[in-house]
Amino acid sequence: MAKCPKCGTIVETPIKEWSLPKKTKNGEKSKIVFGTFICPNCSAQFRATVEKPAEPTTIKSIVKNLKNIEGEFVNTLKNLREKIQKLEGERSNLLLEIEELKKMAESKANALENEITMLRDEVKSLKELLGYEEDEKE
Ligand SMILES: [Zn+2]
Repeated sequence: MAKCPKCGTIVETPIKEWSLPKKTKNGEKSKIVFGTFICPNCSAQFRATVEKPAEPTTIKSIVKNLKNIEGEFVNTLKNLREKIQKLEGERSNLLLEIEELKKMAESKANALENEITMLRDEVKSLKELLGYEEDEKE
């Protein structure tokens, strides 16, 4: 429906129409419809946006919308599941790596402990050799 710019007659239907996609404020996909009209009163041909009445809310369109929503939901779930699986895999890899590093750190600590014990023994025997026996109590 559009108004003739020459004589102001309301023209109900365009002879041709086309649409461009646009996004609404909510980020939902929508489209803007343009049309070519011919005025039945003055025969002027003009282009205007077509004021589309909101799509009639039929059971069919509700079901279609629900199907779309359901589809998106299923997709989202699928993506989330894949993401979680990937993250869980990564997590267990990291845990394994940490476990390995811990073991390495532990054996390093053990080696150091052994070395320290040996060094202490060495110090002790050197002190004994030099007659420092009293220092033993520290
Ligand atoms: Zn007209």
